[in-house]
Amino acid sequence: MMKYILALDAGTTSVRAFVYELKTGKFVHGASQEIKQSFPKPGWVEQDANEIYYKAAYCLNECVRFAGAENIAGIGITNQRETVVVWDRETGEPVCPAIVWQCRRTSEYCAAISKESVRKIRERTGLVPDAYFSASKIRWVLDNVPEARTLLEQGRLSAGTIDCYLVYKLTEGRVFATDVTNASRTMLFNIKTLDWDRELLNIFGLPCEILPEVYASDARFGETEIAGKRIPIAGVLGDQQAALFGQGCLGEGDGKITYGTGLFLLFNTGETCAESKRGMLTTIGYSAGGKTVYALEGSAFNAGSAVQWLRDGLGLLKTSAESEAVAESVTSNGGVYFVPAFTGLGAPYWNPDARGLFTGLTRSTGRAHMVRAVLESIAYAARDLSCCMEEDSGICLRELKCDGGASANNFLMQFQANVLGVSINRPVERESTALGAALMCAVSLGLISAQDIPRMRSSERIFTPQGDREEYERFYQEYRRAVERTLL
Ligand code: ADP
Repeated sequence: MMKYILALDAGTTSVRAFVYELKTGKFVHGASQEIKQSFPKPGWVEQDANEIYYKAAYCLNECVRFAGAENIAGIGITNQRETVVVWDRETGEPVCPAIVWQCRRTSEYCAAISKESVRKIRERTGLVPDAYFSASKIRWVLDNVPEARTLLEQGRLSAGTIDCYLVYKLTEGRVFATDVTNASRTMLFNIKTLDWDRELLNIFGLPCEILPEVYASDARFGETEIAGKRIPIAGVLGDQQAALFGQGCLGEGDGKITYGTGLFLLFNTGETCAESKRGMLTTIGYSAGGKTVYALEGSAFNAGSAVQWLRDGLGLLKTSAESEAVAESVTSNGGVYFVPAFTGLGAPYWNPDARGLFTGLTRSTGRAHMVRAVLESIAYAARDLSCCMEEDSGICLRELKCDGGASANNFLMQFQANVLGVSINRPVERESTALGAALMCAVSLGLISAQDIPRMRSSERIFTPQGDREEYERFYQEYRRAVERTLL
């Protein structure tokens, strides 16, 4: 009797494997390995794809040893998105280091893309053309790595995202495939026709033959052999999408918000492929059971990092968690507002030159007001994103599931519910990315149906909106005024 599902989470800083109990979705065991990053030039970020694979295999082995190969139904995979690996299809050897999503080496190339092409990219991929996405990174490899060109001439070149490379290696080169969510971040994939787009490939001068086949997120990708047993790899999706799925945000208007270093909001728009006029990204949420679900995605660069700055930069806090009690020690922000524009402002302002700011300081302003203003600013940034998404899609946000380090902050979660006027649901299990991959695996193998997932997720606490809506609206407008001052 199969008792467990495994999830492999190949993140930016670490690779982890998790064992979940099939019946309950409960976490029972985990293994983790750090991944080195190198920064060979300013703005460049690289990783070693071999290291990612070896460490992934190590973590999987560790989990299989714990659970027993005969007890494992399958492995689901989730991964850092957009990062590119280019390799020799015959040997599996990468031709150069993996170019990580954060790498800016192709920003000039992207800035030179013609207006007409930008319009096409926007319309077909749902993305805002940027060095962040995979296409220009693959182009860079073809232009700068002679071996890549030789292999291309020999018909042996493969290019893919991290999921694709891991599936290829784990299946000993038998399977060359990616899933729709990962494909949707390459800037080469048409999210409406669900296929690689010839015209987009032409814009970047890339041949289609080097790209993988694209499967549904709930497809069976292949089998890997561990401890003498063949285990199915089933269910693959990018990390943000896995979190959306793992949080059980399966209905139109369901959203998940991650409060980590930055803020990540994903909003399920159902079968509507909503085009954003406000700089949000349109992406594939997941595809399962023959149905494709779309999502809008928005992020703010700084969230938990602002709390970290209070702690380490200003020395106002001993720990990040202390911010909760400090903020609650005053009954209001005392008229103080903060804009966390340390590295410019993202959506919907898109101003790289904006910098952080406190407004409304008086002689009675104390440490607690400043700490409170910083926490409040995180909630306002989420409100900025959710407003855009609601306007772009014409769909109202129903409820938000939260995760990430700062979601432990009760003050922030309650304030967030008040500012948005929707409930914030904090689950017991907040490792939703890996869980999402495990659940997608279980769906793929027909062991559960997607409809079971919301029921499998238990809430630790639900923060329902409190206070006067109009008053919170006035607070938000004050915040917007503070933002305007940073844009001068
Ligand atoms: P990431 O995955 O982006 O590294 P995490 O999800 O681990 O981030 O969250 C860490 C961030 O959350 C840090 O920036 C930290 O300052 C912030 N944080 C952690 N706990 C709290 C808390 N209780 N209140 C506010 N911020 C917190």
